[in-house]
Amino acid sequence: MSQTDSRQAIQGLYIVATPMGNLGDITLRALEVLRTADVIACEDTRHARHLLDHYAIKAPTFALHEHNENEAGAKLVDMLRAGKSVALITDAGTPGISDPGARAVAAAQAAGFHAVPLPGPSAAITALSASGLNDANFLFAGFLPAKPGARKAEIARLRPVAAALVFYEAPHRVEETIADLAALLEPERQIVIARELTKLFEQIARMPIADAPAWLAADDNHRRGEFVLIVSSPPPRIGLDAEAERVLQLLAAELPTKQAAKLAAEITGIAKNLLYERALQLK
Ligand code: SAM
Repeated sequence: MSQTDSRQAIQGLYIVATPMGNLGDITLRALEVLRTADVIACEDTRHARHLLDHYAIKAPTFALHEHNENEAGAKLVDMLRAGKSVALITDAGTPGISDPGARAVAAAQAAGFHAVPLPGPSAAITALSASGLNDANFLFAGFLPAKPGARKAEIARLRPVAAALVFYEAPHRVEETIADLAALLEPERQIVIARELTKLFEQIARMPIADAPAWLAADDNHRRGEFVLIVSSPPPRIGLDAEAERVLQLLAAELPTKQAAKLAAEITGIAKNLLYERALQLK
């Protein structure tokens, strides 16, 4: 029997990942901890009832969400000091991942308690696992800013990062976000639109990012539900020396791509194909 299977060992703070749709997506260990916890801190106590009732978990709950996390975190620490076992859950997936939890964990740790993570569902990892993308790295970017200017600036900042970019998005903003991603990122990058993961209408679609706005517009259902958006890594940058880059940039600004590449090849002696590829990137 593992340590956490015993009633005795459960005293402390447990960070428990919960399903994000399919109630079957919960580990045996998570159920054990929730069943034996003295109290469960929930992002939304009413929402949590759905899961807890399904598994006949009777532990009392209290709210710990982004607007009360400091006070609720202090209450949680008092409970730990009183020798209680406390489980922390959010509405879906893993606490602390675009969700409350971090401040409560830090408060518990500052008071000398170990926060025990119970791994389980998270939308980002779930989407990545079935994305079909083979990128070596990914960067979890969470939600982009809601304001258009700040959103565009953030996308521009992330553009050169050599990793697949993983975003969370809500249905009411997905169109704007995808339009901005398509406008600001290299058109040859792929996007994976993963919606309603683990739910009845789960859909995972992969396409060139330039095609995504039309895909979204093609069917009302494509804009419904909860979204993870993954954009593949930027295309490899073609490395030219500084002088060749300068010549090509000057020509590409004035001439059609093919002609710019041809002239740049004559001036620099570099292969025309390479210069053409780079000129396309500059466009
Ligand atoms: N803590 C969660 C996790 O570990 O993934 C994330 C919580 S965050 C407040 C909610 C966002 O996660 C949604 O807006 C959506 O972007 C994503 N998400 C949650 N459930 C999802 C699902 N079933 N399908 C797709 N995305 C989901």
